[in-house]
Amino acid sequence: MPFTSVTKVADADFPTRWGHFRILGFEGVIDRPEPCNDALPAPARRVEGAVALVMGDIHSHPPIVRIHSQCLTGDVFHSLRCDCRQQLELALAMIAEAGSGILLYEQQEGRGIGLMAKLRAYELQDQGLDTIEANLELGYKADCREFELPAEVLKLLGVHAVRLITNNPAKVEALEQAGVQVTERISAEVPSEPTNERYLQTKREKMGHLVS
Ligand SMILES: [Zn+2]
Repeated sequence: MPFTSVTKVADADFPTRWGHFRILGFEGVIDRPEPCNDALPAPARRVEGAVALVMGDIHSHPPIVRIHSQCLTGDVFHSLRCDCRQQLELALAMIAEAGSGILLYEQQEGRGIGLMAKLRAYELQDQGLDTIEANLELGYKADCREFELPAEVLKLLGVHAVRLITNNPAKVEALEQAGVQVTERISAEVPSEPTNERYLQTKREKMGHLVS
C-alpha cells in the first residue's frame, strides 16, 4: 500500500523522564487504501500519523530504533492485558542508555483496527477467543498494520540502516523490503504477567513472534 506522500509537519524540543529528545510529527497520505474490514466502506484516502522521538546522533552508526504501535490502554493506562507499555519503557530506556536512537510511534490503535473495535475485541476475548480470532470475528484482518510509514519516516530522517528492537519478524521484513537495512535485531522481550500470558502465547504461536 504505497503512500502518495509523507511529510514532516513539526519538529520541536522534547524533554522526558528518560532524557532529552526532539519530537517530530509526520503525516502520510494513502489514496484508495486497502480496507481492513471488508464489511465497512473503504475510504477514498487515509491520512496516517506518526511521531518520532529522536535522541542524539542517528547518522554516524545505525541507530537503535523501536517501531511502537499506539496502545492507549497499555501506554496510558498501564494495562496488563498486553505488554505494550513495558516494551515502550524498555525501548526508551535502551535509547537513553545508548545516548541515541529513534522511537517511532505509529497511530495504529489495536493493530490498526481502531480503539472502539479493539475494546469490542476485548469483550470477545473475555468470552474465550484469542486476539486473532476476536479480530476475525469482528470482520477485521488479524493485523492491519503494514509498517510502511515508519520506513518512509526513517528515510526522510536520512537513516538507511537500523538496529531494530523487536520480537516481530514482520517488522524486520517490512523495513528491509522498503530499503531500510536491519543490521541487528535487539530482543524486546519483557517479563510476562499472568494477565497477558495468553496474549503473548498467541503472538508466539500464531504471529511468529520470537519470544520464549
Ligand atoms: Zn497493548
